[in-house]
Amino acid sequence: EKQYLLLPGPTPVPPVVLRGLAKPMINHRGPEFKELFTELTEGLKEVFRTENDVIIFPSAGTGGMEAAVANFISPGEKVLVVSIGNFGDRFAEICRRFGAAVDKIDFPWGTAADADVLADRIKKDTKEEIKAVFVTHNETSTGVTNDLPKLRKALGDHPALFIVDSVSGLGAMELETDAWNLDVVVAGSQKSFMIPPGLSFVSVSKRAWDAAEKCTNARYYWDIMAARKYAEKGQTPYTPALPQLTGLAESIKMIKSEGLPNIITRHRRLRDMVRAGVRAMGLELLAADEVSSTAVTAVLAPPGIEADTIRSTLRERFNVVVAGGQNQLKNKIFRIGHLGYVRELDILAVLAALEMSLAVCGYQVNLGQGVRAAQEILLKS
Ligand code: PMP
Repeated sequence: EKQYLLLPGPTPVPPVVLRGLAKPMINHRGPEFKELFTELTEGLKEVFRTENDVIIFPSAGTGGMEAAVANFISPGEKVLVVSIGNFGDRFAEICRRFGAAVDKIDFPWGTAADADVLADRIKKDTKEEIKAVFVTHNETSTGVTNDLPKLRKALGDHPALFIVDSVSGLGAMELETDAWNLDVVVAGSQKSFMIPPGLSFVSVSKRAWDAAEKCTNARYYWDIMAARKYAEKGQTPYTPALPQLTGLAESIKMIKSEGLPNIITRHRRLRDMVRAGVRAMGLELLAADEVSSTAVTAVLAPPGIEADTIRSTLRERFNVVVAGGQNQLKNKIFRIGHLGYVRELDILAVLAALEMSLAVCGYQVNLGQGVRAAQEILLKS
């Protein structure tokens, strides 16, 4: 049965990537692997827009987040976590579990981080005790994107590392690792990279490598120093997830052929179509336009109708799968993912299904109005 999977991850996998996943195994200590490894790391660097090293872990995105804590923060050290939702909270929790002294700045869910608040907090740290600032690029739980260059600048010349979770951001929106001076950036396979879940990518700056060398925290599997040592030979320290890597090779080819600027423009257009369509149905959006994500849109359920009822109607009647709300937003919102292998006509289909589902749920909607608003955006672009 054809399903429309519009989650903010896992995202649909293109046929060419599926074929890439189905290749025979090769010797991960042999010459073919070295060639693949080199191709992948070079390709990832292009997507990350960096000359820094990019390490590939066979793990969920959270594994990459853990690596971004375990390698740079020693027990007892101070860190500052900027949270605008569920994934910012997760970064803080990982830091806590690794024994860091965590200071957290919380912004209301649905809003972006205020760079002035961060700048104030940094200015108060006159003894420069804060070792790292953790920031979420695209907060998947709310559909809000943080202004990374602004937040980075808020640090001034404070020496803290700037560590970014861009698991749902990279490849769906602009991210310039080097130009924006981002020390560590974490990304994952099951979002814009269009591969099944199971790989995380972590970029490491020169300053971050220096911190990793001094870090006293216990780590083995997640040790980026081991990864660096083996990368010199074109290998990984432990048996890699080979199917994922041959899939990644295909995904990188697709990304290069469409071109990053075009990909970013497409994601913006998909976001604009979703927002115009949903608004034309009379529904409200959680995020303001200025901070709205090009990867995922959070829609408030109308009064009197549960978000999860809309979701189950979408799934049962039309085989359209969207995500629900997390934590405090549970059953209040539903989230439409529009990143990766998603095209304009997929959005029109989903908006059409949403209008019909709303009608089934007893909400007054003029069929075709949301679709039309999105079509108009598409025609104008
Ligand atoms: N950070 C962000 C911003 C995410 O969107 C996700 C996945 N939704 C993660 C981290 C965690 O990724 P995973 O579920 O693969 O561990």
